[in-house]
Amino acid sequence: MKNFDLKAWVRPNIWALKPYSSARDEFSGDEGVFLDANENPFGRKNRYPDPHQRALKKALSERNHIPVENIFIGNGSDEVIDLVYRIFCEPAKDRVIICPPTYGMYEVSANIHNVEVVRVPLTDSFEMNIDEILAHPAQCLFVCSPNNPSGNRLQNVERLLEEFQGIVIVDEAYIDFCAERSFTELLPQYPNLIVMQTFSKAWALASARVGIAYASAEIIALMDKTKPPYNVSRFNQEEALKALSKPEKHAYRVATILRERALLEKELQRLPVVKHIYPSDANFLLVEVTDADAIYHYLVSQKVIVRNRHSVVRNCIRITVGTAEENKILLQALRDYGNGNENL
Ligand SMILES: *Cc1c(COP(=O)(O)O)cnc(C)c1O
Repeated sequence: MKNFDLKAWVRPNIWALKPYSSARDEFSGDEGVFLDANENPFGRKNRYPDPHQRALKKALSERNHIPVENIFIGNGSDEVIDLVYRIFCEPAKDRVIICPPTYGMYEVSANIHNVEVVRVPLTDSFEMNIDEILAHPAQCLFVCSPNNPSGNRLQNVERLLEEFQGIVIVDEAYIDFCAERSFTELLPQYPNLIVMQTFSKAWALASARVGIAYASAEIIALMDKTKPPYNVSRFNQEEALKALSKPEKHAYRVATILRERALLEKELQRLPVVKHIYPSDANFLLVEVTDADAIYHYLVSQKVIVRNRHSVVRNCIRITVGTAEENKILLQALRDYGNGNENL
């Protein structure tokens, strides 16, 4: 977007907000007698965590070659989504655009903040309808790429970055499973761009709740002053740091999942219950089956849990790629269903 004036897009109360200054903001050294934060002097978990997540941001900065001032750490991507609404969307006034079928939190968070959602559905091949998006004025546009639940990377995001008048949030939760480059490379060109990533998927840390936003230093500063001061626990910061310190483990796991995805796709294709498998750039497959509701309930009865997406994409289930063993169990269950052995 050209001629971007950030202030014009930010809620006036947030622009004017004076952030809470925590005890750890006023003094940030590691050593000393700490009598400043009403902490308990006993125990080993007694101290508040670093509110600025300095060590984690430094490690991310080094890995991705992105300056620390362009990095925000959230309590999962879900906190980043929530902050986008808090910062940019005036309740009962502003609107956002989403492109369903897509990640459900964009709309739930809009409802929480009483922000109107304009739905511009993806095409039958799960591509964005760019002209339709550009025809609707809105504060924010959520682009999920690779998209959940369809699995594909979306085309023409650059055109939206050029032409959409507002904040563009590109959710890259699945970027590590995809050969394409991250949109973080384009941050210097687009002051209205926010790229979200997460430790929940490729980094195998869903339990820790650590999400990332990359954006201009000005947007990151707004996120930092709007978030709860201690939004990411020390344990979660440490888990994320530990994961980053083992890049080979991450790469090995991603490669294993991609190999398993290819195998799973090949085997699923042979099953009579499977009608279509959508191409995936993520760690899951969207699969059209003969009867999604029936197959979903049958799989549950076999203690295999997939996601029934029939309500959003007709007769589709979303299958997360598991371990080789888990995928074999799923495939055997589906074979039995196909053979009419489901009641055995
Ligand atoms: C799983 C997922 C996330 C991750 O959310 P966290 O709060 O970081 O766990 C974000 N976006 C999409 C599209 C996802 O599928």
